[in-house]
Amino acid sequence: MNTPETTSTSEISLNFLEEIIESDLASGKHQSVMTRFPPEPNGYLHIGHAKSICLNFGLAKKYGGKTNLRFDDTNPTKEDVEYVDSIKEDVRWLGFEWAQELYASDYFGQLYQWALQLIQQGLAYVDDESQEEIRLHRGTVTTAGTESPYRTRSVDENLQLFTQMHDGKFADGAKVLRAKIDMAHPNMLLRDPILYRILHTEHHRTGKQWCIYPMYDYAHGQCDSIENITHSICTLEFDVHRPLYDWFIEKLGIFASHQYEFARLSLTYTLMSKRKLLELVKGNYVNGWDDPRMPTICGIRRRGYTPESIRTFAEKVGVAKRDNVIDLSLLEWCVREDLNKRALRRMAVLNPVKLVITNYPAQKTEEIVAGNNPEDPNAGRRPLTFSRELYIERDDFMEIPPKKFFRLAPGSEVRLKYIGYIVKCQEVVKDAAGNITELRCTYDPDTRSGGSSTRSVKGTIHWLSAAHCRQVEVRLFDRLFTEPFMDAIPEGKDYKDYLNPNSLQTLTAFVEPALAAMKAGDFPVQFERLGYFVPDLDSSPQKPIFNRTTTLKDTWAKINTK
Ligand code: ATP
Ligand code: MG
Repeated sequence: MNTPETTSTSEISLNFLEEIIESDLASGKHQSVMTRFPPEPNGYLHIGHAKSICLNFGLAKKYGGKTNLRFDDTNPTKEDVEYVDSIKEDVRWLGFEWAQELYASDYFGQLYQWALQLIQQGLAYVDDESQEEIRLHRGTVTTAGTESPYRTRSVDENLQLFTQMHDGKFADGAKVLRAKIDMAHPNMLLRDPILYRILHTEHHRTGKQWCIYPMYDYAHGQCDSIENITHSICTLEFDVHRPLYDWFIEKLGIFASHQYEFARLSLTYTLMSKRKLLELVKGNYVNGWDDPRMPTICGIRRRGYTPESIRTFAEKVGVAKRDNVIDLSLLEWCVREDLNKRALRRMAVLNPVKLVITNYPAQKTEEIVAGNNPEDPNAGRRPLTFSRELYIERDDFMEIPPKKFFRLAPGSEVRLKYIGYIVKCQEVVKDAAGNITELRCTYDPDTRSGGSSTRSVKGTIHWLSAAHCRQVEVRLFDRLFTEPFMDAIPEGKDYKDYLNPNSLQTLTAFVEPALAAMKAGDFPVQFERLGYFVPDLDSSPQKPIFNRTTTLKDTWAKINTK
């Protein structure tokens, strides 16, 4: 089994947040650790968010602190209760419990009061310029911006106008509240950033109570401060926002939360943008947010990933300070490791061909018991029935085998798993089109497991008794995209140009009878020699459906370099 290495940079940087926390605790700067996970409820969470969840909750847990779940619901036009519910379900599924469930909108009143305070301090003003004018007057990285003609309004006038904004006296876009910082500041975000805009839109929690909404930069740090967040962890692109985060806290004289940045998680063959994932759902490129090919937490869960494997993955990725793209096979490796230890073994034949043992009596059957998991002696055993007519995997037979093919071929022998019998292929039956329909074999009765025969053959294959197995649907998944670096696709190309047309394959397969009784939510099983599988949400006793979580080995690398 291949064991991917974690890079040394991520190992060093895994300590960077822990080092800060340990030093803050040692110096007495903080007595305890308080973190938060702040999703915007405008989509389903993806594996990148899972990384952030594991980090925020994990750090607090390690240092005996707490974590709040705070919905960043400052943008009423894109948010929805459906998303709030799914986010809560996903965080819990990952194994974490928050101290408090909070909403940025809980603080709209306090944020408004603080805006009035900034106006009184001469640090904020109402601007009548349009968004477009504001953008044009902001200047460039190399040239200073120009001050708005409304920048010199008196405190009283600003107080009056802002109160009127709040009271709904103006139309959307007519005015904004801006911080008065420095229109020539080298950091463009500090060139009098917008604090409030007018939006006559209903909010999913506050309804019609507000028609002015705070901007992310104005809300985030203050929300952290209200909750006494000690370490506010976010992704690297926010490092330029940090001076503004600190500016508000300093000017308002409130609890000094601090922001720390880490690299966002990117995965090969995967996209992490909620906006693009939403497009895939809306455009029916996938079957919903929880399509097992999606990098969403609900998609991954439906596919059979365990929360343990996601937490291990987050740990292995570490906390980097520079953006990098993680190989998707690391995620697959993590789930394989976990399922190898815990998944029960079962036999299934995905691409069947019939094998008839001509010297085995037609009516005879044999009952055997087989171990459930060789990795776990406590996993128990299950019964299996053997008979004259079997299904085996079509790939386990080759009419003209290459050298070192140790499975079945004309005249060659193979052992049947568990029962032990050695069978020899005597005849290949074909239909008019030349397709193999049946393999006629003889068996050696002395070779049953536990018997006295000392004969040995090189290959062992799995099988199902044709009269004692169940038919099921099996869904095999491949990567959603054909391109490893989806964040770096050439200009002029759309990410949808790289959708893998073969990412979903549906088969009719046979399985051990007990498998047909499995239901959605059950722990995945290993189909021996084939991979890990889990009942799909659409599965029913009448029509069982299995999703392949992952193959037993990393086969992708080989396929792709062919
Ligand atoms: P997206 O770009 O997918 O919409 P977002 O950053 O806008 O993501 P939020 O709901 O604002 O989504 O994110 C909540 C938290 O999760 C934030 O702290 C954010 O930094 C973090 N986060 C989002 N994407 C990733 C990622 N790929 N890797 C690590 N953390 C992430
Ligand atoms: Mg965001």
